[in-house]
Amino acid sequence: MELQTCRTFLTSAVFSLTLLPALAGDTLVQVSTIDALVQGIYDGGVTIDELKKSGDFGIGTLDDLDGEMLAMDGIFYQITSDGKVHIVPDKAETPFSAVSFFKPDLEIVLSPTSSLAALQSQLDQKLPSTNLFYAFRITGVFSSISLRSVPKQAPPYPALTEVVKHQARFDLKNCSGTLIGFRCPTFVKGVNVPGYHFHFISDDRKSGGHLLECTLESGTAQIDTLENFKILLPRDPAFLKADFTHHDEQSVEAVEKLTNTPK
Ligand SMILES: [Zn+2]
Repeated sequence: MELQTCRTFLTSAVFSLTLLPALAGDTLVQVSTIDALVQGIYDGGVTIDELKKSGDFGIGTLDDLDGEMLAMDGIFYQITSDGKVHIVPDKAETPFSAVSFFKPDLEIVLSPTSSLAALQSQLDQKLPSTNLFYAFRITGVFSSISLRSVPKQAPPYPALTEVVKHQARFDLKNCSGTLIGFRCPTFVKGVNVPGYHFHFISDDRKSGGHLLECTLESGTAQIDTLENFKILLPRDPAFLKADFTHHDEQSVEAVEKLTNTPK
């Protein structure tokens, strides 16, 4: 009798779950966490083929921290530390990335800006709240742009703060191209990078990388609000036994921003 009651309860529970509406809005899907990447967990866990089921647009890196990744219109590009741009094969794996299906809600014409900080504050003024996630696709002409890529690593992996000391930096002048990226709220600390994170690819598809600084001459920004956030957690042994008790905010700053970047 008790078993029957239990079964009835389970049936009704499942039934009521199936009545729930599908998740409303767009979703940012992320592989692993920024703290894992900063600690040197560079073994890919998700194939690009698999990642494409969660998005046609986004940024990240590849297995062994082999360069910067950028996806748009369903094409996944890799910018290696020699500055070359490659199409990422479906069987390649990513240890850290963020993707979505890009469906812009808003398009704005941008005013010229003399720095990345100025561009970011111009974008901030158009957002209804900084407590949501946003995807950005910015097409523009840049009178100058500074990019970087990271060299492929081999186990035992050094921390990302060590790797960026040897990163390749590319300073381009008068370059047309596209910035792809996200803005995450401050509460993602430890999981992703609070604020903006952009990767760039030139219109001729010959240059790109992680954006450090830029001067925008003219451009248009398409913005997609993302109401949902999903994390695909690795099964990698290094991730499973890592200690994430301490979040090192300064290290995240050091690996993402120009201010701590060696020239
Ligand atoms: Zn990046």
